[in-house]
Amino acid sequence: MTYTKETIKQEVQAHKVEFIVLEFTDMLGETKNVELPIDELDMVLNEEAMFDSSSISGFSDIQESDMYLVPDLDTFLVLPSLVDEDQSARFICDIYKPDGTPFEGDPRYILKRAMQKAEDMGYTVNVGPEPEFFLFKLNEDGYPVRKFNDRAGYFDSSPKDKGDKVRRDIVRTLKKYGFEMEASHHEVAMGQHEINFRFDNMLKTADNIQTFKNVVKDIATNHDYHATFMPKPITGENGSGMHCHLSLFQDGDSAFFDEDAEDGVSKTMKQFIAGILHHASGIAAITNPNVNSYKRLVPGYEAPVSVAWSHSNRSCMMRVPTTRGKGTRFEVRNPDPTANPYLTLAVLIQAGLEGIRNELDAGEAESRNLYEVDDDSVPTLPTNLKEAIEALKKDEVLLDALGEHTAQAYIDDKEEEWTDYSLQVSQWEVDKYMNK
Ligand code: GLU
Ligand code: MG
Ligand code: MG
Repeated sequence: MTYTKETIKQEVQAHKVEFIVLEFTDMLGETKNVELPIDELDMVLNEEAMFDSSSISGFSDIQESDMYLVPDLDTFLVLPSLVDEDQSARFICDIYKPDGTPFEGDPRYILKRAMQKAEDMGYTVNVGPEPEFFLFKLNEDGYPVRKFNDRAGYFDSSPKDKGDKVRRDIVRTLKKYGFEMEASHHEVAMGQHEINFRFDNMLKTADNIQTFKNVVKDIATNHDYHATFMPKPITGENGSGMHCHLSLFQDGDSAFFDEDAEDGVSKTMKQFIAGILHHASGIAAITNPNVNSYKRLVPGYEAPVSVAWSHSNRSCMMRVPTTRGKGTRFEVRNPDPTANPYLTLAVLIQAGLEGIRNELDAGEAESRNLYEVDDDSVPTLPTNLKEAIEALKKDEVLLDALGEHTAQAYIDDKEEEWTDYSLQVSQWEVDKYMNK
């Protein structure tokens, strides 16, 4: 939807909006917001909404903590509300510094810069994400416990599937948010679900992922469940991924489709894939951002372990589904839903473009089941957060994609997370070594 200040004011009046919610995303992918009474609408539209950013992850140090929340008018939305007297509207905001220039640590800005790089080369990119999540029960104090909400599996139906009503409620609500909803279903693990929405350009998709996650959590709470996007909540069960389907266009046509090629896949697409494979280890630090992420990337659970591409093989990091023509695309399978979607898409696109620029070679599609290949012929994704961060530290293309500010802040934050984790003595260790 394209809005102007005038049409926004009309909507606000028509819906008797009382509050304005200004949203943005921090470096770690958390949605943050501040709420203002509607009397402040002019101030917000005049781009004068200031906030103290010093306590926001990855934003600024205390010396330059004043920042501005500049609403992206196209993200204006009167929030679907169940109670009329609680009418509010939201904007997703860009972060600006007091000197009137964009804050280089704003994840949205980092993605916009990557999109500009693609545009400079004549490309636009569409992304369709596939976020998965678990529903767990709550204890009597309202805290989540690791008890599944059902005992169902892939595509199971009610009454085994006890998430169907929750999923429908999520779909219904997201439609009110303007989402074009696609399929939803029970996933492989007990209590695990997937809901898909239509692809869009990268910025819109990243914004949508943030809205999606918040709506899923809200609706689950309404049904007395806890929704988690944690990548691997249960040992020995499938984890939750967020596969991303990417397609590239030039002058309105697919730059990934080549009707003369035997497999219908263009040279550009293979170079793009090669770029992502080449930078895979460092990319993982962003797409698989926490300690738990790496417990999902193990053989046997439909999550990728190999840095390779294929046409149908789910053990590879990248897969090219059979659709051709405008729908020609690849699926990146390693991202998980705890990743910051803006940074995820920024590093994927910058690595892919680098592949095109340097005419990198993706090699032949992999046809073996790589879960069962036990040699060094195919590189693997990092096996833990530390390895991924070390790779990111050495990857100039990715450091540049993130920008100096965020690259440094991100690495510092994640190194601290790793150190903290390494110092913990887990139940597994106690069980294994107590009798030594
Ligand atoms: N849950 C699997 C993962 O961790 C993916 C299952 C699927 O292919 O949809 O990536
Ligand atoms: Mg799935
Ligand atoms: Mg998929």
